[in-house]
Amino acid sequence: MSRQWPTQVDRFYVPSTNSKYWNKSLETMDPEEREQKVILPKLRAQLKYAYEKSSLYKKKWVGAGVNPKDIRSLADFEQIPFLTKDEIRQDQKENPPFGSNLCVSLKELARVQGTSGTTGKPTAFGISQGDMERIAEAHARTMWGFGMRQKDIVFIGSFFSLYWGSWGALLGTERLGAVAFPFGAGVPGQSDRAIEWMKEVKPTIFYGTPSYSLYMAEKAKEKGLDPAKDFGFRILFFSGEPGAGISSTKRRIEELYGGICIDAGSTAEMTPWMSNCECDYRKGMHLWQDMVYAELVDPMTKKRVPYGKEGVTVYTHLERTSQPMIRFWAGDISMWVNDPCPCGRTYPRFPKGIYGRADDMFIVRGENVYPSAIEDAIRGINGFGDEYRIIITREKTMDELIVQAEYEKGVNPATLPQLKDRLEKELKARGLRSTVQLLEPDRLERTEFKARRVIDKRSLYDEFLKKE
Ligand SMILES: [Zn+2]
Repeated sequence: MSRQWPTQVDRFYVPSTNSKYWNKSLETMDPEEREQKVILPKLRAQLKYAYEKSSLYKKKWVGAGVNPKDIRSLADFEQIPFLTKDEIRQDQKENPPFGSNLCVSLKELARVQGTSGTTGKPTAFGISQGDMERIAEAHARTMWGFGMRQKDIVFIGSFFSLYWGSWGALLGTERLGAVAFPFGAGVPGQSDRAIEWMKEVKPTIFYGTPSYSLYMAEKAKEKGLDPAKDFGFRILFFSGEPGAGISSTKRRIEELYGGICIDAGSTAEMTPWMSNCECDYRKGMHLWQDMVYAELVDPMTKKRVPYGKEGVTVYTHLERTSQPMIRFWAGDISMWVNDPCPCGRTYPRFPKGIYGRADDMFIVRGENVYPSAIEDAIRGINGFGDEYRIIITREKTMDELIVQAEYEKGVNPATLPQLKDRLEKELKARGLRSTVQLLEPDRLERTEFKARRVIDKRSLYDEFLKKE
């Protein structure tokens, strides 16, 4: 293995079209050998670099009494303290705009990106040219893994803005040599135009959020089109929401479009975010550990959990020169396994995707609830449309969970009480006592980005109590 760090990528390399892997030896390597020969050397170089170049880490690690030179194994690596979103925000506030973790000079930057800033102040990312090339290479590799080839036309139906998602998809598509169709989203009337273009150009691959693909399918049907026949996508890949990893949503997207539905993505801070990405067998996202090193840890003990167990996601860049994230506490919930995948790749997997986004979880009567569990129930029952909303209120001292779900167009009105009853029972079987309210089709707002489906009215109620 090369000792050069960071890896200089060959910008012109592409495997032969019928090759299953972008890099067979890396992807199918014995996991232990990969740890020793690939991950650990990269990790140690990354730690040394960060210690020398980033005053954020220097201060943090000296304070915690750890020194990168003492990290000789992945077990030792667990001594390195976690880095949280709040720490990054605080650091960027004190050292604007990029924080004290920018390890290159401003003139070495090739790109500025940021978080979408849906919760609080956006985080700024400055990215060097070398990092851009490695991000593109990483994404091309995982895209190759789910079946993208040069002949494909890739429709990117999401925002081109600070948000990383679309850019990562574009970089990977271009690096792989497929045909990029960066359509974007968010401009009034754009969804209608997207449908026209999809019908005309017949792109073969779609990228966006799961919510948006469902919305597009609905729009297409309104125009009398059949997304499976009139578009002809063979692959749809997603990030930004858990949907593509929720089995009933996955099935629904595959039925609607007639292509395979691929779940991808970690979090914006970690770009290349497709270091979590399914292969075409769709057995859960592989963790491409030699790109970004992922750990799943117990949120209480902060120790890494064994395979088969649930934990919280923590990620580490292995080859980042501009703003490395080391043991970044992304805080999403998943479960990991390392049993063999039919594709032959030996990376661990998240067989159920990331089913609890840290930002999405809410607590009802002391129980942790993830919207994805509710979504799975709704989409698993015939007769419901694709949109729903979750409302939590407080009656006296008791939390109330209300699930509003649209029924499908053309449903026999006489069957609505049974539909409501079925969903309530299905939710109860998942430990959720709720009231289901059926809404007629098209009542709820549609989104081109990430759907906001949870409305928590309890804080309003608390404020009201304080005033009394
Ligand atoms: Zn696989």
